[in-house]
Amino acid sequence: MPEGLWNRVAARTRRLFTEGLGTPLEPGFYDSLEERLLAGDLGPQLAAAITAGVREQKPSTLEHAQAALAAQVTMAMHPGTRALRLEAKPSCLLFYGVNGAGKTTTVGKLAHRLKAQGLRPLIVAADTYRAAGIEQMQAWAERAGVESFAGKPGGDPAAAVFDALQMAASRGHDAVLVDTAGRLQTQHNLLQELAKIARVAGRAQEGAPHEALLVLDAALGQSTIAQARGFASALPLTGLVLAKLDGSAKGGAVLAVESELGVPVKLAGVGEAIDDLVEFDPQAFAQALFAA
Ligand code: GDP
Ligand code: MG
Repeated sequence: MPEGLWNRVAARTRRLFTEGLGTPLEPGFYDSLEERLLAGDLGPQLAAAITAGVREQKPSTLEHAQAALAAQVTMAMHPGTRALRLEAKPSCLLFYGVNGAGKTTTVGKLAHRLKAQGLRPLIVAADTYRAAGIEQMQAWAERAGVESFAGKPGGDPAAAVFDALQMAASRGHDAVLVDTAGRLQTQHNLLQELAKIARVAGRAQEGAPHEALLVLDAALGQSTIAQARGFASALPLTGLVLAKLDGSAKGGAVLAVESELGVPVKLAGVGEAIDDLVEFDPQAFAQALFAA
């Protein structure tokens, strides 16, 4: 991944962290650092732990402090793999989250990427309430040049996913990307409906869903943690997608949400174009956040 990309993505948060911070030998440096980490939405525990970790290194220049920060942050990130599980044929990837988070866009971009890797994805609109949702998904399928499958308007989204998985297996698709209707983490019945989609997927195909990905809007910062907790309490969760990481000044929330939830950010949305989806690279991101 080009370094320039992460520098661009982290630019707004970086400015908040280190612009005019002074040197570690000046009084108040560590208080000011901790405040800035909080403002960057790292959350109180992580901000305190990382500040303490940097202080222990006794850096004498801002550059040293920045290097120590990047190292601390990298250590705080999830240690597991960030690669999507795509071994099963077809693999079932379920995307969920609140309205406007970036689910449909992410599914469209990922379909494009998998196709470029020589795979045959099928995208499924399990957003069966809104005809507009289905149309938006189909527009992305056309853009990505992949096939799509839509549930009947007003039909049972779990049934649509079941049918789509069977069709995908018989037609030799490699991956089934399921776009679900947006809902709030507090809407109990709608969370149950998602849990049912996941269960029914497992009946259509062993091990499905192979990925259950919560899509979060990076611009929301800390409030994504409450969202993630709510969804995770009712649903399987194998990874996070951080959409709209471009232009967010609250990039630090990536770290907070990972450490709170114990699941890795697997993908990041870095713009609205079809190519603007990348595998999350914690080291490059940490370095870009604190680069001198
Ligand atoms: P959904 O309701 O979760 O399906 O959200 P959508 O995929 O429809 O996205 C909502 C809005 O966010 C749209 O205007 C997208 O173009 C925009 N969006 C999605 N992902 C990104 C991203 O990574 N960066 C930027 N800048 N905009 C994005
Ligand atoms: Mg949508």
